This record gives sequence, structure tokens and C-alpha cells, in this order.
Amino acid sequence: MTVAARRLINCWLKLRRNAADLNRRLQEPKLRVLIVEDDDMIASGLRTAFERAHHTVEHTPDGDEGLSLAKSGNFDLMILDLGLPSKDGIEVLRALRSSKSDLAVIILSARDKIADRIQGLDIGADDYLVKPFELEELLARARVLERRRANVASNTIQRGPLLLNLDAMTVSWQNANVDLPRREWMLLRLLAESPSRVFSRDQIERALYGVGENTESNAIDVHVHHLRRKLHSEIVQTVRGVGYRFGNLN
Ligand code: CA
Repeated sequence: MTVAARRLINCWLKLRRNAADLNRRLQEPKLRVLIVEDDDMIASGLRTAFERAHHTVEHTPDGDEGLSLAKSGNFDLMILDLGLPSKDGIEVLRALRSSKSDLAVIILSARDKIADRIQGLDIGADDYLVKPFELEELLARARVLERRRANVASNTIQRGPLLLNLDAMTVSWQNANVDLPRREWMLLRLLAESPSRVFSRDQIERALYGVGENTESNAIDVHVHHLRRKLHSEIVQTVRGVGYRFGNLN
């Protein structure tokens, strides 16, 4: 083979690799990620990981600035540390949710008690990861949130064989329609919308019943029992001492 021919082939191979890479990037969902974290090492590790996964990243070490950036509407996901200068992460999240923002939030904290996690989830975090954490796991959870966002946009939620149509309030399992009373439907939607999130009984009750509405003390457990019977025994997972989460259907 002549030198010229070899060069031509190398050039063609490189072009083909670049095209495949570009194609892969275009197919991947892009997230605009806001990192609010005052530990420089962790922040730069997070930035590198998200940028390698082709997401865009902005970082601030400051709670107050984090809150105003989060409210700007320029982000899809916030990674939120709790121990922060100027404003604690819990206060940031509380203020964000009271401003009606539905920005996806993953708390990343060294506070590892169940009470801390429940508090974080109660005030509106979508997920909670305890430090030290695996970057791969954080990226996987970010992908879950991204898929959920895409599903909400199309007004359906698909989880394995389960499909919820949010407009028609219908549900199908393995393509067969299943009739659910309104509250069972609402519970299923609540869990399926945030499949990585654990909901306490109180949270579920608040989501399903109006203020002052009388509920039987075991109402939620009865709804869960019905969903398991009508759909799948694993559709709802019990988290001992905390509450319920969407089940792993794989
Ligand atoms: Ca910190």
C-alpha cells in the first residue's frame, strides 16, 4: 500500500470515529446541571463526571447564590450539598420549593441518618445520596430524573410493563388496561413519577387526601395491597420504618 493510500484510509477511519461519537452525543439527553457544593475536590470531581457525560455544568460553593441560580429556570438538575456557607442546603431547597420551582434536586450530603433523608425528601428533594458516594451511581440517578422529565413531557409514564396515561388517568399492564379507583391511581402515579424516591405514609396521605379529610389509619396500606394484587406483587416496595417506593420491575 502506498503512503498516500494509507493516509487516506487513516483519515477516513478518523472521520468515521468522529461521526459515530457525534451521533452518540446527539442521542444522549443533555442536562444543564447546577452544582451547589463548597468542597472544591468534590465539586471538581462532579464537574468532570457530568461534563464527560456531555452535560453542561455550573458550580457555586454558596447557598444564597445557588438558590438564585436554581430559580433562574436555566437548569434541569441541581446537585445540592447541605452544609454550605451563607445558607444551609435545607433552607435553599425549602425556599426553592416555596417559589413553586419543580427543578429536579439530588441532595448529596454526609448527613446519613434516616431522619436527615426523610427531612430532605419531605421538603422536596427528588433523591438523596450519602457521601462518600459513587459517581457512577449519581450519574445513573441523574439519568433516571432525565427520563422522568422526558416522560412527563409526553404525558405518559412508562416503567417496564406499566404505562400510565396522565391525561386520560388510565393505566395498563403488559398492554392490558387495568381499572383503578381514583386514589389507587393517584398513589401509583405518585410512586411511578419518582421511582427512586421513598415516600413516608404522611407524604402519601397528604398527596391522596384533602386537608381535614378523614382517613382510616390503614388506608394507605390497603391501597398498596390492592395495587400489588391488581398489577404485580413487586409494584410497590415497602421501606421498613420509612414508607413506600416504586418497586423494581426488572
Ligand atoms: Ca459542605
